[in-house]
Amino acid sequence: MQQLNMQNEFKLIIDGQSCLGEQGELDIINPATGTVAASCAKASVAQVNQAIAAAKQAFKSWQRCPHEERKNILNKIADGIEKHAETLAELVVLEQGKPLALAQMEVQGAIGWTRYTASLDLPVDVLEDSEQKRIERQYQPLGVVASITPWNWPLMIAVWHIMPALRAGNVVINKPSEFTPLATLKLCEIIQQEVPAGVISIVVGDGEIGEALSTHPDIKKVVFTGSTKTGQHIMSGSVKTLKHLTLELGGNDAGIVLPDSDLDQIAQRIFNVAFLNAGQTCAALKRLYVHESQYDALAQKLAEIANAQILGDGMASETTFGPVQNQMQYQKVKALIADAITQGAKALSGDQALPEQGYFIAPTILTGLDETCRVVQEEQFGPVLPILKYTSIDDAIARANASEFGLGGSIWSSDLKAAQFYAAQLECGTVWINTHAEIVPHAPFGGWKMSGVGAEFGMEGLMENTIGQTLHINKV
Ligand code: NAD
Repeated sequence: MQQLNMQNEFKLIIDGQSCLGEQGELDIINPATGTVAASCAKASVAQVNQAIAAAKQAFKSWQRCPHEERKNILNKIADGIEKHAETLAELVVLEQGKPLALAQMEVQGAIGWTRYTASLDLPVDVLEDSEQKRIERQYQPLGVVASITPWNWPLMIAVWHIMPALRAGNVVINKPSEFTPLATLKLCEIIQQEVPAGVISIVVGDGEIGEALSTHPDIKKVVFTGSTKTGQHIMSGSVKTLKHLTLELGGNDAGIVLPDSDLDQIAQRIFNVAFLNAGQTCAALKRLYVHESQYDALAQKLAEIANAQILGDGMASETTFGPVQNQMQYQKVKALIADAITQGAKALSGDQALPEQGYFIAPTILTGLDETCRVVQEEQFGPVLPILKYTSIDDAIARANASEFGLGGSIWSSDLKAAQFYAAQLECGTVWINTHAEIVPHAPFGGWKMSGVGAEFGMEGLMENTIGQTLHINKV
């Protein structure tokens, strides 16, 4: 393992300069130990305003930078991420807790999404081209974009926000989660090597700093990933200046296992997508509906897989399962499990020994419960999966849809035709068949209902970083 230098490493970037925070330093906790692992610069509201002023200035020339040049720059950034891949992965483990192999996957995702975004071309739609007239719809950048990111996939989500915005000709100010700013600070340092001053900035702090950034009149768009509550707050704060918004919010994804399923084939896959990143994934499978004929058998198989997990520090080679990222979330998930058990649910797994320190909760399979339990109604965002019994498929679909959220959903079956029939009835932005939580850079991803506004990825995601402009040319 490469030795990370934690001394004075983690500074803000404002107007191309790396700088200390005017509010001192923020302690970053390693969730595997519950102790301070590093500290980083903490920004003041005045520094947020400085970053916005510098970004506004930088936009004047960055928006004119030729497309080919911006594409080359994005590819150079991808090279930079590749060069620092090991450090980035280790920072993600340190601050977020996930096992190193998963953090390495996150870094590879960051590279892949950056290169994909570099390959995209913005369209020019020709609406008329007659002898007298040509009408085109062109797509221009918006200006200064505020990116506010959460703590679960800190590096990858920052890349999802920043790269399409830069590619389209915007300038970006990122505010990472106060729990996990380290890898994002390193990412912005890498980006800064390739772009003019003010094109990328990063300010670290809590909700106050997020608020100062997202409500500022010079911010033209906010791209936010986080809880529905904060997303709603950002939406109401954007009303005064009619900001563009992309909001990727919470989810409570249901998966429905049809009665013909091959349990040996799907059990491990279901476990992987429900407990991805210890369940701290927006589009993880969070409620599993299983037909009564297969209920006990599938629950048992999932419990065996859960009991085989080795919990520990993400840097230890034997670790397969990391901690919950922060103490607040740890307490929330513990309370949801306790509440379900009080109401009569049974925990089929979760008995293995846990490390003495840190925010560890063993992956917990719950049976014998229904929608009256909080762990089914609410987004648990942690290592617990409630398994719910159904008799009729129509009833399972209705129960899956009876949620305020609409991020993703899945149907599991050996009959692809039947699976597609039922998939079309799920009320959510992405539906998977025989998988869940799978995302790729070229397929748009976004939530319905209280799970969000707009979409990221693919051309649709890129276009959200632009504003249409219609050009009329009279030829005579
Ligand atoms: P959160 O809403 O608490 O925080 C997210 C970010 O918003 C942080 O950077 C935080 O500092 C900032 N923030 C807090 N108050 C703010 C305010 N008033 N104004 C502006 N910014 C403010 O969310 P979290 O706990 O970090 O993340 C977990 C949530 O994120 C879960 O609900 C999860 O489902 C969701 N999430 C969604 C997706 C998706 O793509 N849909 C992806 C990952 C996580």
